[in-house]
Amino acid sequence: MPSTTHPHAFHFDRPVDSYWEASADPLGLDLSTLEGNLSCEVAVIGGGFTGLSAALELAARGVDVRVLEAGPIGWGASGRNGGFACIGSHKRSYASLIKSYGLDETKRFHHAMAESVELVRELCASHGIDAWITGQGEVTLAHLPNRVEGFREEQAFLRATFGEETEFLSAGDLKAQGLWGPNFHGGLRSTIGFGVHPLNYVRGLARAAHRAGAQIHSRSQVMRWEEHEDGHILTTAQGRLKAKQVLIATNGYTPEDMSWRHAGRLMPALSSIIVTRPLTLEEREAQGWTSELMAYDSRNLLHYFRLLPNGRFLFGGRGGTDASDDGAEPRRLSLTESFHELFPAWRDVEITHFWRGFVCLAYDLVPYVGAMDEKKSVWTSLAYHGNGVAMATWCGRAAARMMLDRSARAAMPAVLTRRLSRFPLPMFRPLYLKGAYLWYGWQDGR
Ligand SMILES: Cc1cc2nc3c(=O)[nH]c(=O)nc-3n(C[C@H](O)[C@H](O)[C@H](O)COP(=O)(O)OP(=O)(O)OC[C@H]3O[C@@H](n4cnc5c(N)ncnc54)[C@H](O)[C@@H]3O)c2cc1C
Repeated sequence: MPSTTHPHAFHFDRPVDSYWEASADPLGLDLSTLEGNLSCEVAVIGGGFTGLSAALELAARGVDVRVLEAGPIGWGASGRNGGFACIGSHKRSYASLIKSYGLDETKRFHHAMAESVELVRELCASHGIDAWITGQGEVTLAHLPNRVEGFREEQAFLRATFGEETEFLSAGDLKAQGLWGPNFHGGLRSTIGFGVHPLNYVRGLARAAHRAGAQIHSRSQVMRWEEHEDGHILTTAQGRLKAKQVLIATNGYTPEDMSWRHAGRLMPALSSIIVTRPLTLEEREAQGWTSELMAYDSRNLLHYFRLLPNGRFLFGGRGGTDASDDGAEPRRLSLTESFHELFPAWRDVEITHFWRGFVCLAYDLVPYVGAMDEKKSVWTSLAYHGNGVAMATWCGRAAARMMLDRSARAAMPAVLTRRLSRFPLPMFRPLYLKGAYLWYGWQDGR
């Protein structure tokens, strides 16, 4: 297992010290752990957006499905992210995607991402999920003056290629729209996306899947997996589940030994978040930031931030490469330093919460949804590159549809289904990550 994934980060029974945990509505379901010998058609490993969205789709179509989640529901990234429901679950430029997959497939991918955002809204509406939906769209903020010009080019590209409309914002516009900070030099605003309370959302998905007939077992970590001619046997501490098909929905929390098919193919990376106490209107005005729009800066190693509905401010960024408990405090300090640099008027505001979690990168820097074996009995959907609130929901549903109907793959953008490549010399993944951080950090300063 790469050293970035220290065992401290896999204590599934350890509560997540996030603001979302402190403010979420109760799950409202009495879930049992897996006990005894059971069987089902489809076993889903992982109770986050991917697994629960898949389970909802499968159960709604009458499939006998069981979800096994190692911790409480949403314990992984789904319950502890920034709550940005938006597009961008790839780490490659559109130009590079067009080169690899062609223009039409890249357009289909972009369309799927935009659709995924609306899917979140639809699911919240149709299942009565109070996910604190806020704001309309997101803005990228130039962290250096020389990034502003690129926004004009990007605007023209997005309009011509995908028909995506964006608004160019000068430094004066930022000030007028309550998106001001002394280190922001311009912005590009998209209308796609909105903020959510991720733990309320994932718990709502669990309730919806449960109502549709899915059996959900929390605190049921899969510890052993046997493959037989007639199916798979997943063993937890207290039970065994036999299933004809398995969906692996563990994303950045996928144990390296989960299945040999995944080994060497995923790179977990930490992301971290701080949240302040509620800011008064005067404090928000003093900084010049009053908008509820979701925002990023234009760094490769970006910061993401937004005002929450109750006036608290959420600020996130890269989470370092030491996932042990010892790695947390240095990360909290450096994230706080970046926060103070970008929002100097809030230097003395109390930070009430800090937490970290794993996102998941793939070698091809795009998500993967599809089968992992010739028999098509082992499936997976993962690698959303830190952008899975919407896309994990969409891809989980897509995986479920592909499991039920083999022709559904044709309807998927090729960007998502081509392959889940192995990293060359996978044991060096922690080094690759450190190298990438150095390289991008250097580029971000230019
Ligand atoms: C700090 C942070 C901020 C982020 N911010 C954003 C954001 O603002 N917007 C956005 O779009 N995305 C964001 N992301 C990414 C997003 O949260 C993820 O892409 C998404 O939640 C992935 O969902 P998932 O269901 O695939 O995986 P997860 O939610 O990670 O779920 C995987 C689950 O698998 C379980 N598991 C692991 N091993 C086993 C096992 N052996 N047996 C049973 N269960 C197991 C884990 O307990 C975990 O709950 C962020 C992520 C982090 C960590």
